[in-house]
Amino acid sequence: MENEDFCAVCLIGGELLCCDRCPKVYHLSCHVPTLLSFPTGDWVCSLCRDVQQPEVEYDCENTRLSAELKGKALPYGLSASDLRKCEKLTLLVFSHALSTPFHEPVSPLARHYYQIIKRPMDLSVIRGKLNKSSHMHYFSPEEFVADVFLMFRNCAKFNYPDSEMAQAGCSLEAFFSSCLREVFPSQAFSSAGVEESDSDEYEGVEPGPVKGFPWPDRREQSHRKRKRRHSLTSRRQHF
Ligand SMILES: [Zn+2]
Ligand SMILES: [Zn+2]
Repeated sequence: MENEDFCAVCLIGGELLCCDRCPKVYHLSCHVPTLLSFPTGDWVCSLCRDVQQPEVEYDCENTRLSAELKGKALPYGLSASDLRKCEKLTLLVFSHALSTPFHEPVSPLARHYYQIIKRPMDLSVIRGKLNKSSHMHYFSPEEFVADVFLMFRNCAKFNYPDSEMAQAGCSLEAFFSSCLREVFPSQAFSSAGVEESDSDEYEGVEPGPVKGFPWPDRREQSHRKRKRRHSLTSRRQHF
């Protein structure tokens, strides 16, 4: 099996970790969970790893934290298998071709965005909350799922329904919902229960894409990303 040349998440080359079971490759900081070192020996990514009986253990912050606690699980937060399931779902969305605009917070320069969207949510925040050392760490898979749906609600709210961005959000949401049923087959989650991002409507501004809103078309975006490779890499290391 031949591995791909570019990271499955950021689509950039560089020093990449290859999965032994699928063609995907990742930067350590792009994989979910973020890896702290290059593994020796066989390695499988979160998408391929068995969520019940993991074939490999990752060198990530949660593993190091539990080593510090001498293997004792924290008395709160996600169980080990729920954590692996949520990490898998997060990586599934992160590595979906339409997910790029959801990887990072919307730019503070985006006109009116933060006036209209009062509870912003993006994949970098979700990734951070999977970390047990975060004070925002999830207590249940429901909380995690609610954040993902909040991200899609925000997208649907801010963008005109027929815009490319809104449609990308819809497709991605449908993709996530089907993955969710597969990863948590015996659990029902409701997207209807997700709180509206903001009931306090901002008056006087029409929601919708405005000139200069930073969703460039894909070609432009990948070009720009390639050029920004170094700054992006260093910024991601803060997660
Ligand atoms: Zn990457
Ligand atoms: Zn894999």
